[in-house]
Amino acid sequence: MYTTTLLMPLTRSVAFGSSRPFSCGLPGTAASQALTRLASKMPRAGIVTVVGKPNVGKSTLLNRIVGQKLSITSPKPQSTRDRVVGIYTSDDSQMVILDTPGLLNPGYLLQQAMRSTALRALDEADVIVYLADATEGKPPSLVEAAELASPPKAPVITVLNKSDAVPASRRDEAGAGEDVMYISALTGDGVPDLMARIAQQLPESPFLYPVDDISTQPVRFFVAELVRETVLEQLHDEVPYAVAVQVEEYREERSPLYIRAVIYVERDSQKAIIIGSKGAQIKSIGETARKKIEAFIGTKVYLDLWVKVLANWRKNPGSLSRFGYQLATGKSK
Ligand code: GDP
Ligand code: MG
Repeated sequence: MYTTTLLMPLTRSVAFGSSRPFSCGLPGTAASQALTRLASKMPRAGIVTVVGKPNVGKSTLLNRIVGQKLSITSPKPQSTRDRVVGIYTSDDSQMVILDTPGLLNPGYLLQQAMRSTALRALDEADVIVYLADATEGKPPSLVEAAELASPPKAPVITVLNKSDAVPASRRDEAGAGEDVMYISALTGDGVPDLMARIAQQLPESPFLYPVDDISTQPVRFFVAELVRETVLEQLHDEVPYAVAVQVEEYREERSPLYIRAVIYVERDSQKAIIIGSKGAQIKSIGETARKKIEAFIGTKVYLDLWVKVLANWRKNPGSLSRFGYQLATGKSK
């Protein structure tokens, strides 16, 4: 069974040791000045939902803002299936950032669940960051792109990402100067301006989470995602899309920390591909994933990786909910 630590939210201090220390003590007069400033100004805090078509860089942006690799990224589309939460806290504002699956027309049940996850996150937002790919020219409006019945309640900031891949002379074509921001989530260019703009639009509110928290999701969620990301990197065509990963055992009291994870696929032929000739493929996936997990948790890990078949799980409501994917509720299509 999972240990209690696993069910706690992810915090800088728990998950990352001293690599990202949070300092709450300020010396002498600086401290009193800071306190006076904080006392005279209500902080701002709220939910910032990042939406857009697949592959525009939503997850890269979440990681850039939080300053940690939390959400998996990939050149392959549809890498994010779930809502991924990252928390960024500064002196006077806190952004609870929701990274979402890309907006697309759903084909099968898993994609329906992904779309409804994105739509629910839009409903929850205090500020929406609508991200588009600058290399693709002027984007459609969010209402068009997401095929929404009505505009969302929250203010929308339209952002063109991948500015590093567009010569400045071509920026006009994509609508620069029409209240559209240009950023590169990859290089960080323009991201501080975007964060300032988001912070301005957040409601005045006390912080929603302790200043040390960086996510509301448990460590085991991120561990499973890192295994899935590795599968996305190492395998091609349909196989990565047929993969779900579950962490079934996580033992912190062991040294090295013991994790048993299962890679679920839909067919025997996919299982054979994941295992590879003489087990070479699963070994390679395991080695790479283990290193990522060790970097993430900050300790040595023994990763015990298994492959199982769960026939057609992407089309099965019971299997989807087992993996934590939520199907549409009334409002979402
Ligand atoms: P998502 O599907 O919207 O979450 O997109 P990802 O964050 O997974 O990124 C998709 C691909 O675009 C990845 O290969 C990223 O490295 C790449 N990417 C993301 N942001 C940028 C950027 O600012 N510039 C460039 N050149 N590539 C980017
Ligand atoms: Mg993503």
